[in-house]
Amino acid sequence: MAPLHGIPASPGYAVGPVHVVRRRSIVPVSRSVTEADLPGETVRFREAVDRAQAEIQYLADSLARELGTDEADILASQLLILEDVLIWDATLEVMRKDLVNAEAAFTTAVGDVARNFLQIEDEVFRERVGDLRDVEQRVLRAFTGAGDPGPEVPTVPSVVVAHDLAPSDTAALGRENVLGFLMDVGGTTSHVAILARSLGVPAVVGLGGRALALEPGTQVALDGSIGEVVVDPDRATIDRIHGLARTAAVTNEKLAGLRDLPALTPDGHRVRLMANVEMLLEVDEALARGAEGVGLLRTEFFFFQHQRIPTEEEQVRAYTELVRRMQGRPVVFRTLDVGGDKVSDYLGAKREYNPFLGWRGIRFLLANRALFKTQVRAILRAAAVGQAKLMFPMISGVQELRDAREVCEEAAAELEREGIEHDPDLEIGVMVETPSAVLAADLLAAECDFFSIGTNDLIQYMLAMDRGNSRVSYLYQPLHPAVLRAIDRTVKAAHAAGRWVGLCGEMGAETRLAEVLLGLGLDEISLHGPALPKIKQVIRWTNLSEARSIVDTLLDMPTAEDANAWLADYIARRKRDRVEEGTP
Ligand code: PEP
Ligand code: MG
Repeated sequence: MAPLHGIPASPGYAVGPVHVVRRRSIVPVSRSVTEADLPGETVRFREAVDRAQAEIQYLADSLARELGTDEADILASQLLILEDVLIWDATLEVMRKDLVNAEAAFTTAVGDVARNFLQIEDEVFRERVGDLRDVEQRVLRAFTGAGDPGPEVPTVPSVVVAHDLAPSDTAALGRENVLGFLMDVGGTTSHVAILARSLGVPAVVGLGGRALALEPGTQVALDGSIGEVVVDPDRATIDRIHGLARTAAVTNEKLAGLRDLPALTPDGHRVRLMANVEMLLEVDEALARGAEGVGLLRTEFFFFQHQRIPTEEEQVRAYTELVRRMQGRPVVFRTLDVGGDKVSDYLGAKREYNPFLGWRGIRFLLANRALFKTQVRAILRAAAVGQAKLMFPMISGVQELRDAREVCEEAAAELEREGIEHDPDLEIGVMVETPSAVLAADLLAAECDFFSIGTNDLIQYMLAMDRGNSRVSYLYQPLHPAVLRAIDRTVKAAHAAGRWVGLCGEMGAETRLAEVLLGLGLDEISLHGPALPKIKQVIRWTNLSEARSIVDTLLDMPTAEDANAWLADYIARRKRDRVEEGTP
């Protein structure tokens, strides 16, 4: 079989069996029953429905408590489905007519209703089909007595294969026994890709159906650096991949010597290199690579590890542990950024038709003030044991910043009144990741302490390309003049107001772009730990003055293609010069 090619989403090499994670839908086995069995089957049906109802009610209650009744209504509509005489009558009718067991009859009845809904030319009915299918799966699980099982975790070292993985599933898989990821959908900045890079495991995404076509247990050899997957590799391929892995390990070993050295240019300019962290288990890796702190803590991943909203005390414990583990180094907490591709049933942030333009980031938080305030309280409390900062995702203008700051003030005032230890004076920043935030950067800078440029979203919104859609991933172009100019403008606005500015998108980890970011004047770059030493090495080689002139040239290039070609040529020339000079 010819090698499969997808989008290289996380570098690295792996050889191992495939572990397939499918959407866990239960298809019930149809069993014949007699007339005499029917009363018993009806009782089993009632009991399964009761259990499913109790589960939904529990979720709805916790939603109502944390988010308010509007969000709980989503689940209330699922409760209504279970009471619907249409479903009940249809199920009992199928049981009687076909003489089949209750679960098979129920699935047939739901299928009939879903088909009818799909024929109605109305979005509302189509949305109802999603609810119907959710409810169906919950009832079918209730028949077996099992709760939501989460994804099946590999028991031997394996390459995880899926259509796509929700962040909650990726979090649940953990790190043990995960050699790499193969996904049918996604782009380089989709969240599975980000997590894979943070964990230092290879990933290939956008395989367009060829990943899930692999049989469980099939051996694959994976080269995440070029996005290649060899199925049933021969001895020579396995040796080649192992050889590449060894070379990468040797390079890492050499770079390890940089760990305690500053990211300082030869002409004396200092940049802070920080780590992007999603889960506590990445912290040791980040520190081992020389991270000077956490520049972006994606707190949503902590939420996704739970099947319910974590309480303030649970959040305080987790955040405090992280701040302590960083031993005085700063931790930038980004408040919950759900929505987009980060959806979660229990948070009520459901799939939308235009998810990245929808109920996301700060919009979700401001609409759910109780949950927002609880998180801010937990962060303010954790800040008392070390150095913490706080920033808000998806800010599109000053009013959102003001509203968010008001929540922080309320939280601090409450903690003060309650006599609970906290830090009321932590720095508050804004993620600049929407075009409107770039254009209003001077206005935002006047009302916050720092900026962190989220280029994953900024590129998505500037170039109108869905970051999770492999068909348009070619448009992800960090050197597009609009992107470079947006970063340039943001940095200048921050500095004019005396604020510091960092960058925490994935472009911060691209070695070829390190001089560009240096020349753009960023004070801090936050990236996944494994890529940090290489970036530091480039910074330690490059004079700020040289980096500035690179940026001056690139800002005037008319296309990303021109800029990519010019930069590649420049890097090759400089490498040759260094070899001739005998510098490393
Ligand atoms: C970004 O958008 O660049 C960012 C760092 O945040 P996230 O990838 O979590 O949206
Ligand atoms: Mg973002």
